[in-house]
Amino acid sequence: MMLSARPRWLPASLKWNRRWTLWVLLVALVVTMLGALVWLAARYEASMVQSRLERDTAEIVTDIRAGLTRNIQSLQALPGVERRPMDWRAQAGELLRQRREIVRLEWRDPSLKLGQFYESAYRASVFERMGRETINFEISQACNTAMRVGGPAYSSSYFTPQFNGLGLELIDVCLPHAVEGRLTGYTLATYSLQEILKELAGSQLTRGQGLSFTEADGTRLAITGTPVRGNRFYNAQQLLDLPGTTLVLRMDSWKGSPDFFPNMLTALVSSLALALIAVLLLLGRDIRRRLRVEHDLADALAFRKAMEDSLVTGLRARDLEGRITYVNPAFCQMVGVQAKDLLNHSFPSPYWPPELAGVYQDRQTIRLASNSLPQSGFESVFMRSDGTRFPVLIIEAPLINANGKHTGWMSAILDISEQRRVEEISRASQDRLQATARLAMVGEMASLLSHELNQPLAAISSYATGSLNLLEDAGTSTAPLAADLQLALRRISEQAERAGKVIKSVHDFVRRRDQVRECVAPRALLDAIMPLVSLQARKLHVRVAMEVDESCGAVLCDRTMVEQVLLNLCRNGMQAMREANTLSASERVLSLRVTPADAPWVMFSVTDHGVGISAAVADKLFTPFFTTKAEGMGLGLSLCRTVIEQHGGFLGHAPAVAGGTVFSFTLPSSLAGDPAARLASTQVYAASSMTTGTAT
Ligand code: ADP
Repeated sequence: MMLSARPRWLPASLKWNRRWTLWVLLVALVVTMLGALVWLAARYEASMVQSRLERDTAEIVTDIRAGLTRNIQSLQALPGVERRPMDWRAQAGELLRQRREIVRLEWRDPSLKLGQFYESAYRASVFERMGRETINFEISQACNTAMRVGGPAYSSSYFTPQFNGLGLELIDVCLPHAVEGRLTGYTLATYSLQEILKELAGSQLTRGQGLSFTEADGTRLAITGTPVRGNRFYNAQQLLDLPGTTLVLRMDSWKGSPDFFPNMLTALVSSLALALIAVLLLLGRDIRRRLRVEHDLADALAFRKAMEDSLVTGLRARDLEGRITYVNPAFCQMVGVQAKDLLNHSFPSPYWPPELAGVYQDRQTIRLASNSLPQSGFESVFMRSDGTRFPVLIIEAPLINANGKHTGWMSAILDISEQRRVEEISRASQDRLQATARLAMVGEMASLLSHELNQPLAAISSYATGSLNLLEDAGTSTAPLAADLQLALRRISEQAERAGKVIKSVHDFVRRRDQVRECVAPRALLDAIMPLVSLQARKLHVRVAMEVDESCGAVLCDRTMVEQVLLNLCRNGMQAMREANTLSASERVLSLRVTPADAPWVMFSVTDHGVGISAAVADKLFTPFFTTKAEGMGLGLSLCRTVIEQHGGFLGHAPAVAGGTVFSFTLPSSLAGDPAARLASTQVYAASSMTTGTAT
């Protein structure tokens, strides 16, 4: 109980010890059981052998007794010696031939005096060495008993040495003979105990058994059979009661080979137990392996769970019918629906905005039918449980099971609302930055404007003065007044219009903010900036050359922004030429060119003959707020690059052939197709021809 109640957090060594202790206990238990089984079986076997031995001994005693009784009957059948001595001898001889256990027959008169005797022909006379007289005591004792009981009586056994150095244990039986109630003599038969064993019981002995007559203290009197020595010894004793004496019959048995498994059943049970141990060991090994695999699996599961839980990416698995089979916590959190409400849910999904459900349903049906995936992720809009919509990026992959069968789809879903928000913030700040830059530029231009407006205003003023003078002179002069006044007023109107245009162009430039892509002819872009460019060009004594390849079609762009880019580049070019003081009037040319580039691009380039760009400046050229000018803000080029890249184009610079710098950028033609192809061709163009303006 205590062991099983141990908590799981036990140290590994303790668990290991516990497991081994259990195993050792189990094996010890089985071995003990097996040992007990073998021991009990051996004991049972021994008791069986013992009881069989005792039964055999009892049977032998019965046989001996029956043999002796038969002999008594034969002895009683002998004729009396006093009447027919020859008959007695003949029958005695016959009896001795038949009964080999009797070694001598005697006839004694009532006073026990030896009359006739007959000895077995099978052996030498047993009393030859010691003489018969020495054992008169036993004889008289037996005959007295016989007289007393009126039947045969046996003497106690006695030893008779022989000539061969050995001896024989003999016993006499005395049988009184009476004729008409008068004792006529005794028939005395002498048995060899050895022969009794041999003749009356020997046939029943088996190999490995010995039979003997013993005295009460265990001294052997006669023995037959030669027990084979073995490890186990059994013996049984039985009393052989004879009138006048009692003999102890002992039977010895040696079990030959020591059997470890005494019988078939024990062997069977033992081998079953051994097989059980083997099975247990195999089972243990199997369980250990399974535990290890389970442990590894649990680790892998825990790892996967931790990974899933820590993911901010939503995961959703669908089967081939579109039913949701798995969602991770991030996905549930994203859509605000519990996993149980999502699982097994088919179309329409609970996170589909109702207004888009029809579109989504069609899309899924087509996709499931075609069994194909979009090449890359696709964007969609999901709905939270509170009804708010949010944009998501979905990346899908097929689910293949362990047998390689396609069982469904696994989708990774990214909530990109934050990304969108950041993009929006960045766009707004970009707008603000651009507005600031534009304002800065306008500030710079205000001085130019004042200068430029001075001219029309001065012209207006002088035309107005002239007109007034004409009116004053009207009274005195006869000159045709109307024609002059008309001219002057037309001039005033023209100059006012010009001033208005200048103001409007600046106003437009500052106010136009909406990013609208439109198809614009390249020349229109250049024309739009020309008034402002010319303003500065005149001030800096720069000639502006414009060259537009007529094969270039319209470009797709945010007109205002591209105009700003062109303005920036023109302004930078003119300022660079201002810094190069040594330029002759013919060299102070700013060239604006529009040429076709690799399809579908149109290339705009602004070439100056200015100071050029050193390597140190080139490194930081596009870094915001980098400027080498006292009045500069350092935002122009960084904005230009952002604008061009937003169009998918490329902005770069290179030294101009005749000195100075050429800044070029590309814009997509309005006939352009795939934006990805545009981007690819831009990169090829960039690598081959220009110093890159984008960070790599
Ligand atoms: P700003 O004009 O306010 O300095 P820009 O980002 O437009 O900011 O330009 C950054 C710097 O790049 C300039 O200060 C100048 O040193 C250099 N630069 C730009 N255009 C040219 C050019 N055409 N020739 C030489 N240097 C140039």
